Amino acid sequence: MNKSLVGLNKKELNSLLTSMGVSEKQLNMRTNQLWNWIYVRGAKSISEMTNLSKEFRKELNEQFNLTRPEISKNEISSDGTQKWLIKFPDGSEIETVFIPDGDRGTLCVSSQVGCTLNCTFCHTGTQKLVRNLSSQEIVSQMVIAKDSLSEWNKTKRDITNIVMMGMGEPLYNFENVRDGINVFADDAGLSVSKRRITLSTSGIVPKIEDAGNEIGSMLAISLHATNNDLRNELVPINKKYPIEELLDACKNYPRVKNSKRITFEYVMLKDVNDSEAQARDLIKLISGIPSKINLIPFNPWPGTIYECSDWDQIEKFSDIINRGGYASPIRMPRGRDISAACGQLKSDTKKEKASIKYKKELAKLESERIGRL
Ligand code: SAH
Ligand code: SF4
Repeated sequence: MNKSLVGLNKKELNSLLTSMGVSEKQLNMRTNQLWNWIYVRGAKSISEMTNLSKEFRKELNEQFNLTRPEISKNEISSDGTQKWLIKFPDGSEIETVFIPDGDRGTLCVSSQVGCTLNCTFCHTGTQKLVRNLSSQEIVSQMVIAKDSLSEWNKTKRDITNIVMMGMGEPLYNFENVRDGINVFADDAGLSVSKRRITLSTSGIVPKIEDAGNEIGSMLAISLHATNNDLRNELVPINKKYPIEELLDACKNYPRVKNSKRITFEYVMLKDVNDSEAQARDLIKLISGIPSKINLIPFNPWPGTIYECSDWDQIEKFSDIINRGGYASPIRMPRGRDISAACGQLKSDTKKEKASIKYKKELAKLESERIGRL
């Protein structure tokens, strides 16, 4: 079967072209031509590439194509959030989410099928099947989103930001995530600046330094607790990399200016981590690290033992942090009706079976939330 060129990085394209017999002299030119067709124009067939000679196109066509992975489902939320369930040829599925927000649009990209970690509040962590995505599979998520949003060849972009916050722990798939982000950020291609790309990690300490040196995107840390006892429970990888080591790694993460702050993510769990004392502990803990705290209202999923904090409590928590000198935006849940919100991603069939009960539960939560606003 022919191989797809969509999602490949420059090194991979170079080596395919070399194996076809393209001379060293022509290699860069050919790679750049393909790069432009794939990542600027969004070409869907090799025959479209009219600035390549007929003969070269014929040779390419014999071995390659521009096929995208299959979209097994595309859902649009009442708030405009879109979710694609993407199926790869081996049958494994992942989810990619687009969140429009005024002038800004964020694409939430997955790095693994499932996740080997098991944070107790996260739905993805309950998924059994796990494998790393290749850098091609990571990049193809954006190609699919751009196809669906008809974003090729446009000056005004829908996708302005990328977050590695879909399924999986990106720092457990380091090389492929690094290579994928470098394709996203390439000026002559997809061209999303690294300042607009955020990598979120549960805290794989030794890899944070590597990410600083080799990736250089913005960094988000899933903190969620202010002491090791509680964090061990919520984010079990904390037993291996405790809070002190994690914060040291954050202090050493390279930053250009103050503007390149680290984001700490803090999921709001009712009566677990949302007290006013814990808000004050949080300020003490991160003092000296230029950062902001994203408060994420817990997104429920069937079978979870947690509840989302009351809205008043989230606001109180946020006020304390603001007064302590840190920005603490509350991340409004988006796409809850299509299970596209943080921590709700899980690509298996069990979710489908529970969907009726689940939808009722969500409708109730949503009406409570609207009532509070
Ligand atoms: N594995 C990485 C990135 C993916 S998770 C990480 O853990 O950072 C993206 C964010 O969603 C993380 O901050 C995660 O802690 C948070 N999250 C997971 N489950 C959630 C849920 N049910 N409600 C709200 N946020 C959740
Ligand atoms: Fe994995 Fe992140 Fe979910 Fe934890 S929160 S289980 S690291 S995807």
